[in-house]
Amino acid sequence: MDLDLTGRHALVCGASEGIGRAVAHELALMGADVTVLARRADALAEVADGLPRHGAQRHGWLAADVAATDALRASVEALAAARPVHILVNNTGGPPGGPASTATAAAYLDAFNRHLIANHTLLQSVLPGMRSAAWGRVVNIVSTSVREPIPNLGVSNTVRGAVASWAKTLSRELAADGITVNNVLPGYTQTRRLEQIIDDRARASGQDVQAVAEAMRASVPARRFAQPQEIAAVVAFLCSPAAAYVNGVSLPVDGGRMQSI
Ligand code: NAD
Repeated sequence: MDLDLTGRHALVCGASEGIGRAVAHELALMGADVTVLARRADALAEVADGLPRHGAQRHGWLAADVAATDALRASVEALAAARPVHILVNNTGGPPGGPASTATAAAYLDAFNRHLIANHTLLQSVLPGMRSAAWGRVVNIVSTSVREPIPNLGVSNTVRGAVASWAKTLSRELAADGITVNNVLPGYTQTRRLEQIIDDRARASGQDVQAVAEAMRASVPARRFAQPQEIAAVVAFLCSPAAAYVNGVSLPVDGGRMQSI
């Protein structure tokens, strides 16, 4: 199976920690030159320095806030002009919790900006390079809520659906250019985001944090949370040459938690 990414340049967003950081590591192991993007330069420099490298592999970092659309476009266009990006992993922090019915319009707009608009800005900034290479991989880290909305994540559920529809549409538009667009839907994954969700649920229900975590684990057939590396392995496969004919899918990596087929 061809998993070799030597000579490919990957831009991995939200890569200072959690799933994004694990994805950067896997892609570097497969030979890609990896640029990690998030807001904090010091954290990114540490991540980039720690990535595996062999031979001529060159890793780097880009400090940017995905919510600042114009600045994001300018910095990623400059990155892609200096070194075309062949692999884009769209990923950032999830929106705050709460019911859909009480969320403000501003909360919806903010989440659309940080997810859909940021993903679109990033895609447009790297697309000319993918087209001239006639090769590209776009993987969006979304959520199982694309298929089954999650209680108390009203804004998140809504924007995830929009991202999935955007990606599916793009996959059909870009396939003839040798570019695939896929979504990975993580289940409960042991990161800071999961800790935040467990804390929110404990506060909302008056239960203690351990009890909430235990109930969540019990809802997973595998009876455990994922490690970030388990999500990253699937993302990395979708970025590989071997995955050239996998396009337009939303792939759950959730230990079998979702009920839908
Ligand atoms: P995380 O909070 O551990 O990491 C998020 C990353 O995004 C960090 O590197 C953070 O610095 C970066 N980031 C946040 N806001 C940013 C901004 N404005 N600009 C640039 N970078 C920014 O999250 P995670 O658990 O790795 O999750 C990644 C994605 O997957 C999120 O959208 C999350 O909601 C989703 N998800 C996570 C789980 C889970 O259980 N962890 C489950 C389903 C979906």
